[in-house]
This record gives sequence, structure tokens and C-alpha cells, in this order.
Amino acid sequence: MSEPDTITSLETKTRPWWLRIPLTLQIAIALLLAVSLGIALGAGNPSPENATFITNLAIPAELVLKALRALATPLILVAVLHTFMTTTIPGTAGRRLAVLLLTNTTVAILIGLLVANVLHPGSWGTLAAPTGAEQVTGQSVDPWGLFKDAVPDAILKPLVDNNVIQLIVIALSFGIVLRALKSEQIAQGKTAYQPIEDVIAILFEAVIRILNWVIALVPLAVFGIVAKTVAERGFAPFQSLAAFIVAVLVALVLQACYYLTRVKLGSWVNPIKFLMGGSDAFITAFSTSSSTVTMPITFEVLQTKLGLRESSASLGALVGANFNNDGTALYEAMSALYISQVIGQHLDLGQQLIVVLTSIFASVGAAGIPNAGLVTMTLVFTSVGLPTQYIALLVTVDWFLDRCRTAINVMGDMTVSALLDGKKPRTLDEA
Ligand code: ASP
Repeated sequence: MSEPDTITSLETKTRPWWLRIPLTLQIAIALLLAVSLGIALGAGNPSPENATFITNLAIPAELVLKALRALATPLILVAVLHTFMTTTIPGTAGRRLAVLLLTNTTVAILIGLLVANVLHPGSWGTLAAPTGAEQVTGQSVDPWGLFKDAVPDAILKPLVDNNVIQLIVIALSFGIVLRALKSEQIAQGKTAYQPIEDVIAILFEAVIRILNWVIALVPLAVFGIVAKTVAERGFAPFQSLAAFIVAVLVALVLQACYYLTRVKLGSWVNPIKFLMGGSDAFITAFSTSSSTVTMPITFEVLQTKLGLRESSASLGALVGANFNNDGTALYEAMSALYISQVIGQHLDLGQQLIVVLTSIFASVGAAGIPNAGLVTMTLVFTSVGLPTQYIALLVTVDWFLDRCRTAINVMGDMTVSALLDGKKPRTLDEA
């Protein structure tokens, strides 16, 4: 990921001054202005002559969502291809790594679904249906059908249908093949793979840059949707969102406890030392909302503060920052359940199973950059027929929850490194 990040940081320096205000501050200002406008427009009692204006306030959020939906599939595709072509994973450790990643992510999603089913944050208040909400299409689910559907009819079809499972099948197939071709060519002293690798790196950077444009519009979207919600419904809907925030935080804390237990049982690292030594990485993750930007710090603390072997540190930190996003998976599953509760569309066990599966894939495909989870969440919603317009309301709290789940994403990478390091500390010879 090094080239794209360098280009992005160069680009940052040439931005106009208003775009250099931190996004969180922009969103905070947008929230304040939106609440004032919402109150001025009636706070739950709007006058009929303002109706069209109030309805149109949702337009920026609708456009942002459409753009996020459109970017989700290319982002996953190039992110997976890029990781496969550029990261080195030794054979046996690779298999262990895959098992660890899969179990941790599945546990994260199950914790998320459990907390959402128990606390039921969607029933703590009401949320208005955003204008133009799609018709809810409850689907009953046949797991075999899901299996049969995993292979698309045409290679580009998942990109068009926004089908995350099919997309990952395509991305993984091409990723594995391109990777194998690259090693064969390197062994034969050939370099024909290089142009493809460069093209993928450039495309990856291009998608991220376009995503950055869309994210630059998020404060405007938040302003519009919050002003509209306050104007039409007063503050009642935010009670429900507050419940959602509490539920997500509870689930993330439980996930952190799960990591500490695994570290205690499966590695030589002391969990307290793990927490203290990792604090630099957690704080950086929280303040940047990006596990990719945090990656060098994660790698550093794993080696210097926790004393892990370089091989385990690099596998967990480097591969993890790209593929392992447990906090994101947990969040996406909880969001789907929360919105289903809000709109009173019960998701049965089969549908929750689909949420588990698509959240796993969506989190694998979510790049370690701010708000990536919001982008791939559209795919989870689509898979169980939930209206994606509701994601506009989640945008208003995403700036905060993104930070929290990024810290958990990084903690997940560190846990994997500790487990790969095993039960015996590094000896002096290995140091
Ligand atoms: N911001 C997260 C990360 O960098 C991804 C997400 O949006 O969930 O890990």
C-alpha cells in the first residue's frame, strides 16, 4: 500500500484550506448548523410551505450514498487484487493465518449480532424512512441457493449487481492466479507481471481518490440529512441512534475482551502488556480512522514493545491491515440488524446467516481507510433486501464509530500476530 499512501499525502498538501479542516471538525460544524436549521424549520412541526425545501435537503446524502454504492465493488476488487499481488505470505503460516482471520471475524460478527438481538437498539426510538426508501423485499433464504449463487453467470456481473459474495469469488480467483503467475515469472527471471501490478496499484489509488472526493462531501450530506430529520421529526430519531452507538460500543468492548482472552490462552504475551504496549497503535487508529495508516506503528509496537518475532509481527500487521477488519465486520452486521429492527422487518436465522457471510466478505474487501466500512455496508444491506437509504442516517454517527472500529481492527491484527508467535517468547538468538 506504500505507493498509494505517498501519492495521497502529497495530494493532501495541495488541497484548499477548507478541505484541510479535519473531517471530524467539519462534521461537528455541519451537525451544529443542521440542528439550528432543523429547529428554525419547525423541529418536528414543519410548516407545509417549506415541505419541498425540507425534502430536498436529503439530496446530498442520497447522492453520496449512490456514489458509495457504485464505488463499493471496484474498491473491493482492486483492494483484494492489490493485496494478493504485493504481500508476501510464507506457505504454512498462510494457512494458519487464514484460519485465525476467519475465526476472529466470525466471532466478531456473532458478538455483534448477539448484542443487537439482546439490546434491540432499533426499538429504543423511531426513525423516519428517508425519502425514496426502496421497497423492502424480505427474502427467505436457502443456504444451498446461496452456494449455487456464489459463481456468477458472467465475470463482470457481480460488479453490476453489487453482489459481494460473487465479487469476492472473482477477486480471490484472479488474485490467487495473478500471484502464482508473478512467482513463476520471478523464478524464471521474467518481469511481464510488472505492468499488471502497476495498473492495479494505479487503479487502487484512483478508486481511493474518487472515494476521497465523496468523503469530502460527507459533512454536506450529514448537514442535509440531520437538518431534514430534525425539521420533520424533532429529536426523537436520535434517541434510537444513541442506542445504536451504545450497542456498538458494548459489542466492540466484548470483542476486545475476546482478543485478550485469546492472547492469554494462545500466546506467551501477557494481556496487560499487550494492552499497554499496543496503546500507541490503538490511539493512532482512533485518531486517523485508518488501519492502513496505522500499519507501520502496529508493526513497530509488535516488535519493540511486545517483543514478537519479525515474521509474526509482519504477517499480522501487514496482511491484517488489508484483510482483517473484525471491527468493520461486527459493525456492518449490527447496522443491518439495527435497521431491520427500526423498520420492523424481522431478519430470520437464515437471513442473519447471510448477513454473517456477506459481512465477512465485505470486511475482507473493506480497505483500511476511513469510512470504507460504510461503503461496503451497502452490499450487506442489498444481500438481505434492506433499503440502503437508511445508511444515510448511519453516516451521521459513522465519523465516531469508524474510529472505534478501526482501533478494534488494529487490535485484531495484533492479536493474530501474538497468536502466530506461539507460546514461547523470542530467544536472544532470534532477536
Ligand atoms: N476505517 C476502517 C479501517 O481503516 C475501515 C472501516 O471503515 O471500517 O480499518
